[in-house]
Amino acid sequence: MSSHESFLSELRALLSEGAVSSAAEDLNFYSVDQGPVVDLQLPLAVIWPTEVSDVQAVLRLAGKHGVSVVSRGAGTGVSGGAHATRNSVILSLERMNRILEIHPEDEIAVVQPGVINAELNEAVKPYGLMYAPDPASYRLSTLGGNIATNAGGLRCAKYGVTRDSVLALDVVLADGSLIHTGHRTFKGVAGYDLTGLFVGSEGTLGIVVGATLRLKYLPVSSRTLAIFFEDFRTAAAGVLAVGKARVQPAIMELLDGASMQDIDNRMHSRLRSRGGALLLIQTDGFAAQAEAEAVAAAVAPLGGTLYQEDPEEAHRLLELRRNSRGMDADLETRVGEDVAVPRSRLVDYIAATELLAARHSVNVRVVAHAGDGNLHPTFWIQDEDREGINRLNAALDESVELALAMGGTITGEHGIGQFKLRWLGQEQSLEVRQLQSRLKLLFDPEQLLNPGKAI
Ligand SMILES: Cc1cc2nc3c(=O)[nH]c(=O)nc-3n(C[C@H](O)[C@H](O)[C@H](O)COP(=O)(O)OP(=O)(O)OC[C@H]3O[C@@H](n4cnc5c(N)ncnc54)[C@H](O)[C@@H]3O)c2cc1C
Repeated sequence: MSSHESFLSELRALLSEGAVSSAAEDLNFYSVDQGPVVDLQLPLAVIWPTEVSDVQAVLRLAGKHGVSVVSRGAGTGVSGGAHATRNSVILSLERMNRILEIHPEDEIAVVQPGVINAELNEAVKPYGLMYAPDPASYRLSTLGGNIATNAGGLRCAKYGVTRDSVLALDVVLADGSLIHTGHRTFKGVAGYDLTGLFVGSEGTLGIVVGATLRLKYLPVSSRTLAIFFEDFRTAAAGVLAVGKARVQPAIMELLDGASMQDIDNRMHSRLRSRGGALLLIQTDGFAAQAEAEAVAAAVAPLGGTLYQEDPEEAHRLLELRRNSRGMDADLETRVGEDVAVPRSRLVDYIAATELLAARHSVNVRVVAHAGDGNLHPTFWIQDEDREGINRLNAALDESVELALAMGGTITGEHGIGQFKLRWLGQEQSLEVRQLQSRLKLLFDPEQLLNPGKAI
């Protein structure tokens, strides 16, 4: 029996019926997430644990056989963080999907990693609460995946990113041991912040098998403003105007004309006919109306056309924005970026991106979580020849260098995964990268947890 065969037969003996598959369709489906594929590998098996003890048993067995473990939530990641690697298994946490506790007075929920973000929000709504971080993939992505990528979202402009809502974690380490980090209280500073370290670690330090999450009050009311401008740069200037008016919107999203056209084509909406760029702002809380009026006054000098939307239309517009990426995986000919720049540089970044795309003869469309300075330019080419792909890559490289030169980052929320490794050395010094490698070795000496990702 080969070593792989003996690993698989020991695995099947450890877990319950139906928890392991090596069927070709499962291996294919689970081999990639939504990110560009750099080096396609099929896993040896897909594993669906249902208990923490299953995860522990898998990690002990993988360690014994030297097999890598790639954890996976819903596979909506766009950086290749959940792509299979050579000699790996995919550990899908999707069946560990129970909400274990909701404690309204403490404003917390305790969840398993496979709970879908939107399901937690539905469950806490009757208590007047919400789980604030809402990636546009909130109807699909899991809380474990959100935690492992430190996901952002539309409401993060006001309520913070995933890390700000994670109080405690249960994590299975590479040797199969189970640790609990953090606390049920909002405050707590005992020792190093291991909870914060695991958030955003992309499955390279341990497997998240439970999380205690901070909830926030569901706002009593909200107002949504759709402000259409002639051009994207003026819309971006609106973001700074709102800041000067001392309003902190819950949501502040930007879409350029090409993104609106793309949404119209796919969703049969009519955004593009209303203007060349859209600034979508939502204020919330008891002062929602007063804040909306302050926003309207602040952007008026920029000359856009402002609509205060009724709740139904507001919901529709936000869903259109959430659908702006579509569900197609990135390709060699179409790549979505995730840079962030200081907000004061938004207008400069957008102007320079338009110019660089034209110089490299590639198409670009941009949506942005503008409240966070987090931009998602999508660059694409029509032709599939090598020369076109080289031009696309040159544009991607330049767009990333531009963000770094402005004091920004190569990834605001999607993570490094496999795809963004090529730029990491431009953002982080050698000393910082070496320190991260030493941390990785401390947690995972055999380097079996999601190797070749994140650092
Ligand atoms: C249409 C669309 C819209 C999107 N919008 C946003 C957005 O607004 N904001 C945003 O931040 N992202 C967004 N994303 C990207 C993606 O949805 C997020 O990165 C999300 O957090 C991934 O969750 P997932 O459950 O799909 O994780 P996966 O893609 O399955 O995994 C992501 C990473 O987490 C690791 N991982 C998963 N579960 C665990 C676990 N339990 N323990 C340890 N490691 C684990 C994986 O190994 C991988 O490295 C979007 C994606 C799509 C397709």
